[in-house]
Amino acid sequence: MSEAKFNQLVLKVKRIDNQVDLAKLKEAFLFAQKAHLGQKRLSGADFIDHGLNTALILSDWLIDEDLLIAGLLHDAVEDGQVTSQQLEKKFGKTVTRLVMGVTKVRGLKFRGSNQEVFVENLRKLIITMAKDLRVVLVRLADRWDNLQTLYVHSPEKQARKAKETLEVYAPLADRLGMTEIKSFLEDLSFIYLQPEEYQKTVDLAIKFLKKAEVDLKQTKRQLLSALAKKSVSAQISARTKGVYSLFNKLSREEVNWDLEKVHDLVALRVIVENIEDCYATLGIVHQLFKPVPSLGVSDFVAQPKPNGYQSIHAKVFALKRVIEVQIRTEEMHQEAEWGIAAHWHYVQKKGKEISDEKIERGFSVPDEKINWVRELVAWQKEVVDSKEFLSSLKLDALRKRIFIFSPQGDVYDLPLGATPVDFAYAVHSDLGNNCQGARVDGQWVSLDYQLKSGQAVEIIKAKKRKPSRDWLDFVVTKRARDKLKKITS
Ligand code: MN
Repeated sequence: MSEAKFNQLVLKVKRIDNQVDLAKLKEAFLFAQKAHLGQKRLSGADFIDHGLNTALILSDWLIDEDLLIAGLLHDAVEDGQVTSQQLEKKFGKTVTRLVMGVTKVRGLKFRGSNQEVFVENLRKLIITMAKDLRVVLVRLADRWDNLQTLYVHSPEKQARKAKETLEVYAPLADRLGMTEIKSFLEDLSFIYLQPEEYQKTVDLAIKFLKKAEVDLKQTKRQLLSALAKKSVSAQISARTKGVYSLFNKLSREEVNWDLEKVHDLVALRVIVENIEDCYATLGIVHQLFKPVPSLGVSDFVAQPKPNGYQSIHAKVFALKRVIEVQIRTEEMHQEAEWGIAAHWHYVQKKGKEISDEKIERGFSVPDEKINWVRELVAWQKEVVDSKEFLSSLKLDALRKRIFIFSPQGDVYDLPLGATPVDFAYAVHSDLGNNCQGARVDGQWVSLDYQLKSGQAVEIIKAKKRKPSRDWLDFVVTKRARDKLKKITS
């Protein structure tokens, strides 16, 4: 059985990338098999199957020789009979670093620990990730496979793993732009944590989807033929919202379990060849279906989200319902589904090795798109007191975020409740220190105004103005608080 699984992996790798040394991959498989000889999982399967599953999941995200080998061998040191020296001799430094990184990260407990430990462990996870994102990819694939066999464990372990997944790993996947994985991790955890709510949500969605199916098919046909008439070649598919994310939406007060108010339960995803076609498609969509004025269009092509997400979202009336049409190129699609993994090769080709010292200083993360990692790493350096780090993290990192635009169109990722002063300090300390007034989307607001996602904020600078200590009453970011404390004390 293990051999069959390994052959499946080989077939997939062959199909996608011929640069991978298949003999070496085979060697890794035999090595892992030996390391876990005689070990069984609680489900009764051979232990090596878990390594193979992990590598198979990884091969969906990214074909990278060292990554796949590390996936195969990720438990070989911790659970198998292998030392890191043996591993390095056989497979080299990179694979060993990845495996040891995963082993280290695996030891981090998030549930059942007190909050300080939670945050300290989260910090370690982030640092490890900043060193090599592939460690986190292996960890996410590992968790994915473990969730699939979670049913064999005790209810306590199920709850602990599911909670940890919802609190740490799903948000992490989300921040890396790995939407597909995020949604999978959420849904599988949700089943264990709130089985009744899960069932209730699924039942409701299925009833609705059965009714909507015919409409959707017809809408899709209409759109395809309209696009063809204008010579836009496109692929259209329907995607359904994840169960957990649907549950969250249904639970909102203003929705109150009314599915008619969930406009993105089903979205039509239109994949076109280039950016010009994205906008041409938007025009065609609006000729065919009436836009919903209050919901309108979100253009994340011109203004990508901070995690790199790009697409045009248009809400329209199609037949009897409001549906969302998501328009994007194939490249944007790959990145939306697989996030950071989609452009790892590009990062890797630049060949930047990051030294530990650089990471300690908090400034070097392989990809400038994931600002938040860089921010977290920088913060942890500043923080002396771990309690303070905890409250800042709770405020800044784990809560919902909003995206604010500067007049130049730069995107800033701020916590919910952030004010113009928080924004000013996020841009630059000078701007914070000299902040006198703010305009939001062209309108004057007070400095304690709570910003909303998508707003453009312009800060009016005073020539000479000391910031006020009163601002401490309303700022929510750690950066603003620290700077204010310093300058007003
Ligand atoms: Mn594992």
